[in-house]
Parts: sequence; structure tokens; C-alpha cells
Amino acid sequence: MKTCNNCHHQVNDHAKYCRFCGSQLEMMSNLNPEAEESSVGYSILSFFFPIIGIIFFAIWHDEFPKRAKACAISGSIGFVIGIVLFFVINFLLYFFFYSFYIGLLEKMMELY
Ligand SMILES: [Zn+2]
Repeated sequence: MKTCNNCHHQVNDHAKYCRFCGSQLEMMSNLNPEAEESSVGYSILSFFFPIIGIIFFAIWHDEFPKRAKACAISGSIGFVIGIVLFFVINFLLYFFFYSFYIGLLEKMMELY
């Protein structure tokens, strides 16, 4: 017996559709649905720490392919956004200090 993902009724192993709610059952045939479901937290973690996403992908790509893929994707997005933010922040800091320095020079010129 296996459990329907939608209504959680027990259904026949060979059934293609749940006889209680009519939802399709083939997709979850041999994977552990509970382990695959809880990937959101790991995806968020991978997003903020791309290295962890790579490690998760390496550990899970055979056992939990969906979760591993989710971690790899969010890790890549987090990595790209991290690089973009790094350049944007450096760019802003550069202009902030540049204008600050120019302003300081102008004040010094006025004094003398
Ligand atoms: Zn069902």
C-alpha cells in the first residue's frame, strides 16, 4: 500500500489514480514524498550560503534529486546575486568616498 499525496488515504500500489480524490499517483511511486517535500528551508539556506547549496547537491543528487536540484538552483541564484551585490556595494562605496574626498579637497582649497 502507498499513501495518496493529496488526501493521504491508503491506495493500492499499482493504482495510477487515487480512488478517493482522483489525483494522479505515478509521480511519487518510489520516492519518499516526505523527504522531497521539505526542500524550501534547504533552498533558502543554499541561497544565502551557495557553498552549502553545492554540498547539499553533492550529498543528495542520487537520493533526493528534486531537493538537490532545488538547492543547486537557489545556490546558483544566491551566488550570482552575491556577486552583483558585491560590485554594486563597491561601486557605491567608491562614489561615496570619491565625492567625500573631492568635497574635502574643495574645502581645503577654500581655506588657503
Ligand atoms: Zn487521494
